[in-house]
Amino acid sequence: MSVTLDLSRVSASSAQGADAPKPLINLSGLTRPQMIAALTESGVVEHGKAKMRATQIFRWIHHRGVTDFAQMTDVAKETRARLADSFTVSRPEVIERQVSKDGTRKWLIRMAPGIEVETVYIPSVGRVGALCVSSQVGCTLNCSFCHTGTQALVRNLTAAEIVAQVQVAKDDLNEWPSDKEDRLLSNIVFMGMGEPLYNLGQVADAIEIISDNEGIGISRRRITVSTSGVVPQLQKLGETTQAMLAISLHATNDPLRDVLVPLNKKYPIQELMDGIRAYPGLSNARRVTFEYVMLKGVNDSPDEARALVKLIKGIPAKINLIPFNPWPGTDYQCSDWAAIEAFAAILNKAGYSSPIRTPRGRDILAACGQLKSESEKVRASALRKLSVAAMVGGLDDEDEAAA
Ligand code: SAH
Ligand code: SF4
Repeated sequence: MSVTLDLSRVSASSAQGADAPKPLINLSGLTRPQMIAALTESGVVEHGKAKMRATQIFRWIHHRGVTDFAQMTDVAKETRARLADSFTVSRPEVIERQVSKDGTRKWLIRMAPGIEVETVYIPSVGRVGALCVSSQVGCTLNCSFCHTGTQALVRNLTAAEIVAQVQVAKDDLNEWPSDKEDRLLSNIVFMGMGEPLYNLGQVADAIEIISDNEGIGISRRRITVSTSGVVPQLQKLGETTQAMLAISLHATNDPLRDVLVPLNKKYPIQELMDGIRAYPGLSNARRVTFEYVMLKGVNDSPDEARALVKLIKGIPAKINLIPFNPWPGTDYQCSDWAAIEAFAAILNKAGYSSPIRTPRGRDILAACGQLKSESEKVRASALRKLSVAAMVGGLDDEDEAAA
């Protein structure tokens, strides 16, 4: 006779000790349909009223920016108290804030103990200004020129933690209510730490929340997801988010791309190109951005520029040339300015818009690579990571005009 132990009822709370309080769910990370379900399941809101109540709460959080149920003045006091028993709408802690002379802003946000994320706002990118958000702490991919790649993956960020990066920026930029005129934050780019397509579920939820017109209302056309080329997820990204696509290409042949972006060994260039051609919604008004980091003597010759033109022929595209940001310990160097200009000239001649992004926020170390090194000197924390300023491109205004 065998005895089977049923452990299924050992809940998370009893595993942590029977008296441990149940963790509160942050409503900021729920899409409206998810919020309806959560409110109903909690028993705080009756089924028939859940939709109306969820929209009301959603507007308080994402339109007004409130961080406390007590501020939701049109919700009955008793309901607010019951909401606070199961849920929270609070922000994570901002542990550092810096503002550059050029208007670039950077926040270091502590999501949880040991989970620290940097988020950067860059003015004059996109329609008005772009926020560069992270999707993971660390990264499993080891692109040889990327400082994040030297750090192991700590964990995926939740939708609430991705949305929190936007909320923190909006708090600081004084962007509530969300329909305020002269908004400074017009675009979102997933170009911070991590590979968004390895955390697509949470990234997609965050995009649904950020683009919802009852709240922050940033159009999906102004949200760009950058990937190193996780080909099997491209279709799903397009279908579930309708976000703009950016591809970290960096090389035009497999042997070199295998070294720069090792994921290429799994999904080589031709497969990647096929995946991009099939990206839902790709058109002249919704072009893919190819990111190309300029590495001296590695990928920056005129021949490579011509190879790039050939490779992407027929794909509605623009190219974002990123001056490499060196970090301590790297063997790579940034291409000379003349080489970058010569490269850009070949692309332009072939009809591609190829803005070279001038690095921003140098004085507050908001440029890729510098962030980690300096931060570590100051704070000795392996978790502080770079978000990107110089690399945030592909947001030129033609798309905006079509938006
Ligand atoms: N993991 C995703 C998104 C985050 S990286 C991706 O790889 O696309 C965002 C961009 O920054 C990528 O194009 C990446 O190649 C680039 N990047 C990383 N390190 C850099 C560095 N040191 N200098 C310039 N660009 C860098
Ligand atoms: Fe990860 Fe992107 Fe850096 Fe590559 S470039 S290691 S995918 S964050």
